[in-house]
Amino acid sequence: MADPDDPVAPAEPGLPAVGGGWPLIDGWARATLSPGGPKLWQTLLHRSACLSCAWGTGGQKGGFTDELGEPLQRCLKSVEAIGAELMPAVPEAAFAGRSLEELQALSSREADRLGRLAHPMILREGRSRYEPIGWDDVFEIAEAAFRVPPERLASYSSGRSSNEAAYLLQLLLRALGSNNLAACSDLCHAPSTVGLREIFGSGTSMVSLESLQQADCVVLVGSNAPANHPRLMNELIRLRERGGSVIVINPVLEVGLLKFGSPAFPIRSMLRGSEIASLFLQPIPGSDVAVFLGLQKALLEAGAVQRGFLAAHTEGWPEVLAQIEGTCWEAISACCGLSREELEHAGAVIARAKGVVFAWAMGITHHVNGVDNVQAIANTALLTGNAGRPGAGTMPIRGHSNVQGFGSMGVSVQLRADMQRALEELLGRPLSRVPGYDTRSLIEAADAGRVDTLLCLGGNLWGANPDSAEARRALGRIDTILYLATKPNQGHFHGLAARRTLVLPVFNRFETPHRTTVESGNNYVRFNEPGTTHLRQAQLIAEVSFLAELARRLLGTDPIDWGRLQDPVYVRELIARTVPGYAPIATIDATKQEFTVEGRVFDAPAFPTPSGRARLAPTPLPALVLPGPEHFGGLAPGEAGLVVSLITARSYGQHNTVVYKEGDSYRGMPHRQTILMNRADLRRAGLVPHQRVGVQGEAGTLEDIEIIPGDIREGAALMFYPEVNAIIRAPADPRCGTPAYKRVPVLVRGRPSSVAAQPPR
Ligand code: SF4
Repeated sequence: MADPDDPVAPAEPGLPAVGGGWPLIDGWARATLSPGGPKLWQTLLHRSACLSCAWGTGGQKGGFTDELGEPLQRCLKSVEAIGAELMPAVPEAAFAGRSLEELQALSSREADRLGRLAHPMILREGRSRYEPIGWDDVFEIAEAAFRVPPERLASYSSGRSSNEAAYLLQLLLRALGSNNLAACSDLCHAPSTVGLREIFGSGTSMVSLESLQQADCVVLVGSNAPANHPRLMNELIRLRERGGSVIVINPVLEVGLLKFGSPAFPIRSMLRGSEIASLFLQPIPGSDVAVFLGLQKALLEAGAVQRGFLAAHTEGWPEVLAQIEGTCWEAISACCGLSREELEHAGAVIARAKGVVFAWAMGITHHVNGVDNVQAIANTALLTGNAGRPGAGTMPIRGHSNVQGFGSMGVSVQLRADMQRALEELLGRPLSRVPGYDTRSLIEAADAGRVDTLLCLGGNLWGANPDSAEARRALGRIDTILYLATKPNQGHFHGLAARRTLVLPVFNRFETPHRTTVESGNNYVRFNEPGTTHLRQAQLIAEVSFLAELARRLLGTDPIDWGRLQDPVYVRELIARTVPGYAPIATIDATKQEFTVEGRVFDAPAFPTPSGRARLAPTPLPALVLPGPEHFGGLAPGEAGLVVSLITARSYGQHNTVVYKEGDSYRGMPHRQTILMNRADLRRAGLVPHQRVGVQGEAGTLEDIEIIPGDIREGAALMFYPEVNAIIRAPADPRCGTPAYKRVPVLVRGRPSSVAAQPPR
């Protein structure tokens, strides 16, 4: 109940005190007891990697087993993903039978719930409905669409598919002369890849699971692991139990980062939950460089900087030390909103630890200075000697299950020089040096009419982009778009091409009739056994088959026998020859030996840079200024409101743009038309909890949004992506093209509390 004297009441009833916990058991029980329960369990036990996050459970050791052979490592998120893949086929009436207008009215969840795609569909120019199409016609259209100048050809991919399909996709485009290989990582961890590669010469995690288990401190920044990487929570629980520390840095106080009940430890964790954060810091969104400069300053002043390590194994450190010394505490605290004492306390915890792993997710990368954020973390690891030894290092936490594998396979506009040379040797000719389009530049190029054909290997390009109207318009200027997908998504209904949009059904990972591989976020390559689909009389195709057949039609045997690439064993042979660190994949069919990609995990401080040393880089303090209401045209007379720094985020029960559950009980957000705000901001602005407001961004306004009071940094707010993409324009980090989804100025506007106070609903 609201306090009548203070409409912004201090407590929000009904919020769970523990993340994870019994709702997870309930979810497993419901899934198990459902009619699809037996098939679900059969799939869980299938020898293939989890479809969901890049922690990468499953594979040859069994569906529930991690790379160290530990059982019981499968989470509810995985069950949600498998359950969706086991849905029946989309009924004809639900897709071809619906008008475009009806399809466009579907929410993300409703689109997903239509079922599995089972037959190729096409939407032709001027028609208002998708219609079925045969595979022969699909290939004719695809072949003709690919016979365009290479710079007008592009692809986009999510990390859903296999290494083999990813490799073929980039090989085909590069052989045709196009480097336009946009990928979902452009929208998430590109700053990690760019930032880490500059400093360490390698753009991925340097920490293996084994190494993580030797750490006694984890600094977890900008990650909601309880929802997005649940199995990481088991490692944090164990770390706390062995006396280690977890420092969480996040503007939102997520309950699961305080306490988490893990079903993997039914006795000691499920009942009351396990402690996670030893220290929780809530900085201003976008101020991470200031937070880490503050930690560095605290470490320097405490004499905890490892000068011997720096001198022996790094370069660039004198400039970084000079920057730290030249940055005053006042500037640091003013930028990040944390006190000197808080930062000194956290610094002391890091200094005391024997091995620190610095882990982060998109709270770090989704900023205009995302690369600086990553490098500020890497600098801190190096200053404390926490890189290049077991139990320590930098660990970006990747999202989609094979997003990292796509990067390794060369599906990226940042192709490694050694892989470029190997591909040129394979193809017997130089690759194009024309810079390719990353995801944002693809949208801009399409909008400018410079793209004719787009092949999407999974994903929801429309939904993942900011400014939905711009994305729709841009995609609408492409002649032909081919979407290879297992299930429908909103992008298939809103991201429509000018002349032909094809939605082509493919096998998922556990159905694919041949063996495939994927790579986890910790560089572990898993080998997936073949499977079968439950869909009867479906016309699914394996992505490798589609791409190899398209390549054969376009290129024949020039300069390699593209038809032979129908055989994934041959694809793996080519991967072994051309992808750095992937040599063991050549024999994986015989050995079934999964492996860690060579040259990624550093157990010694020798780094793959030209000098063999890590290269620290100064990281400038960001200027964080929010505009006033006048930036948005001002508040109307009698209206209350304020400008806040909006964090766009996934809800619990959501995987990237796919929404499995509408509500988010852990944050007390009962539906998706909500905004999480700090109570002090509500008081300041004259707004009240549960009031309906308008939220105005630079690309539009969402009306009838319910305010949810919560534990979020003052001045910040949180709304759910992808819906909020409709109103935001997010500038991109110029060094990697990743949009700043986590610090978007928006104006929250509504009736003042004096007239808006009302009971919660
Ligand atoms: S932690 Fe990630 S990889 Fe492991 S079971 Fe859960 S969703 Fe799958």
